[in-house]
Amino acid sequence: MQEFFTESSQKLQEFNLFLASPKKIVITTHQNPDADALGSSLGLAAYLKKRGHFPTIITPTDYPDFLRWMSGEKEVINFESDKQELAKSLISDAEMIFCLDFSALNRIKHMEEFIKKSSAKKVLIDHHQQPESFADFVYWSDKSSATCELIYELIEKLGDKNLIDIPLAECLYAGLVTDTGSFRFDSTTQEVHRVAGELISVGIQTNSIHRKIFDSNAFERMKFLGFALGERLTYLPEFNVSYMAISKEDLLRFSSKNGDTEGIVNYGLSIRGVVMAAIFTERDDMVRISFRSIDNFSVSEFSRNHFNGGGHKNASGGRSHETLEKTVEKFLALLPKYQQELIGVNGQ
Ligand code: 5GP
Ligand code: MN
Repeated sequence: MQEFFTESSQKLQEFNLFLASPKKIVITTHQNPDADALGSSLGLAAYLKKRGHFPTIITPTDYPDFLRWMSGEKEVINFESDKQELAKSLISDAEMIFCLDFSALNRIKHMEEFIKKSSAKKVLIDHHQQPESFADFVYWSDKSSATCELIYELIEKLGDKNLIDIPLAECLYAGLVTDTGSFRFDSTTQEVHRVAGELISVGIQTNSIHRKIFDSNAFERMKFLGFALGERLTYLPEFNVSYMAISKEDLLRFSSKNGDTEGIVNYGLSIRGVVMAAIFTERDDMVRISFRSIDNFSVSEFSRNHFNGGGHKNASGGRSHETLEKTVEKFLALLPKYQQELIGVNGQ
């Protein structure tokens, strides 16, 4: 896989040359965008605007309310809204399409076919494992903690650090914070802290960003969390596994929105000894699954092999088109095969 901005200054120059005159640009990211997906898209859009381009962000689906403070967020077009026709024409008119924070085209839901058939130059900037090759320019590294980290580095490599103002820095910092689990996952390298330090030096208020993301729960979400932990969490000590299965009725009962199950899987992983945690959420058209793990147990591989998904070694997602019950049954039936591996990891 090319990592062109780091490996080849010629490719970087080619890319920069392409940006020498104003371009119509679409930026997209994965469905159910998280802080890294939206933050990297907004950060990049703000940067491209400052360079005289015309970027529009189009997300495959809506995103949770706790991201609605980010600068420029109001101009984002949700492909699943009444603006779909506008989105389609922006995609077909685009001269350049940036694909951020995903490496597999099936992660952009119904946008996939439109992005595929567009003749725009495609730029992939991402940190997920096993990237597909569909882009003309690729800036990819699975050693990076967040796409926001890559966007910062890109702007820096292009010599435009001075264009990063507070609103832009806030967007990038948000992605760093969430994708590193508040600077605690293994992916929290020296480079992450360097980039965070650079963003802080611009003048952002880190505490306020943290509060906006983590301390802005609706009361109902907290009740839902209590219910999920109290009634839906199962712990299987013989496998070092915990999981939750959330039905459509559960979501309805707490008027839960898509973003409300976000992060809940981490509670399962915080049980002493747990090596893999999963959450199964029943949606209209499928069961969405999130996996988390510690150490060398790769949930990215687990999800890719069994649940049409992927992601990172310790954080992945997938989907199933079977019922919630059948999906959980399948998961449980797989565990004995992984038992040795799971109990081989010291979860303490
Ligand atoms: P989450 O559980 O937070 O939705 O996802 C965890 C990580 O795995 C995120 O980085 C997300 O982008 C990635 N991920 C989630 N679902 C999929 C999937 O279906 N395919 C791939 N390749 N990555 C996924
Ligand atoms: Mn990310």
